[in-house]
Amino acid sequence: MTTILYMVIPCYNEELVIDETSKRLKEKYSQLIENEKISPKSRIVYVNDGSKDKTWEKIQEKHHEDSVFSGINLSRNRGHQNALLAGLMTVKELCDCAISMDADLQDDIDTIDAMIEKFEDEACDIVYGVRDNRDTDTVFKRRTAGAFYKTMELLGSQSIPNHADFRLMSRRALEGLSQFPEENLFLRGLVPLVGYKSAVVYYKRGERFAGESKYPLKRMLSFAVDGITSTSATPMRFILWIGFFFFIFAIIGAIYIVGRHFIGAPDVSGWASTMIAIIGFGGLNLLAVGIIGEYIGKIFIEVKHRPRYIIEEFINQEENKG
Ligand code: UDP
Ligand code: MG
Repeated sequence: MTTILYMVIPCYNEELVIDETSKRLKEKYSQLIENEKISPKSRIVYVNDGSKDKTWEKIQEKHHEDSVFSGINLSRNRGHQNALLAGLMTVKELCDCAISMDADLQDDIDTIDAMIEKFEDEACDIVYGVRDNRDTDTVFKRRTAGAFYKTMELLGSQSIPNHADFRLMSRRALEGLSQFPEENLFLRGLVPLVGYKSAVVYYKRGERFAGESKYPLKRMLSFAVDGITSTSATPMRFILWIGFFFFIFAIIGAIYIVGRHFIGAPDVSGWASTMIAIIGFGGLNLLAVGIIGEYIGKIFIEVKHRPRYIIEEFINQEENKG
């Protein structure tokens, strides 16, 4: 029995890259099937995340040309993480393992062999693709990404540095992932919590093949904030400690001031220090309220428990024609 592999590829306005990605993946699949690494029942599943261009038409076209290509059409744009989850949850009962990958060929397709090997020969349930260079990113993206992973680490999050969403998961790991009900999805912080035996494979991240990045600065920043606040409560704990520190400080200050009064020292001046205290504490309060607000907002969204995605259509040829 050879492995049934499903690739899951979220696509948002990717009409320019689907042809090339399909061609490259098809070659890889033919080769893997020939070497009996994967079963001919394996599929390549594109998840159309409410694209505004011809992406879905392109996916349907691919599916009709060749049954190795399948497609999931979401009812609207839900963002990369939700689209990915929609794909993984849809295929989890059909496959032995699934590999998630971006549509733009930035993840190296040749790494798939190493991932399958870890899955088959070493019985790993999760294989993380980790990039060993960031040469193709701008200096800015490299710096900000570096700072982000450092922060995540300091905050005690379990995420794997330089691993994006290129990974293999076994069927039971997907089953595990399906038990996490959260709305604030940050898959790379969540998957390590699933557990099981895991491994890392390294690859060189290439340039986007065509089209442009769907993560402009604004989206990148909010993704980072979401990533931190949905996997770690440390920023709130941090506020608690700052508050505690200033409280002790204030008590000591109060004792000092009252003491001075009884000694009879002149207590006229002190305007500057008063102002500094007011402004300083004002700022600190706003910061604290802001961070707490971020978490309360998250709770608000979790409590409503809205569906994370809605699937409009799933086109898949399950039986094996090959
Ligand atoms: N993507 C998506 N929904 C979105 C935004 C992006 O499904 O709302 C997909 C996109 O089509 C691509 C992947 O997520 O396959 C990663 O996006 P992109 O390559 O633009 O991000 P970058 O590599 O620049 O971080
Ligand atoms: Mg990309």
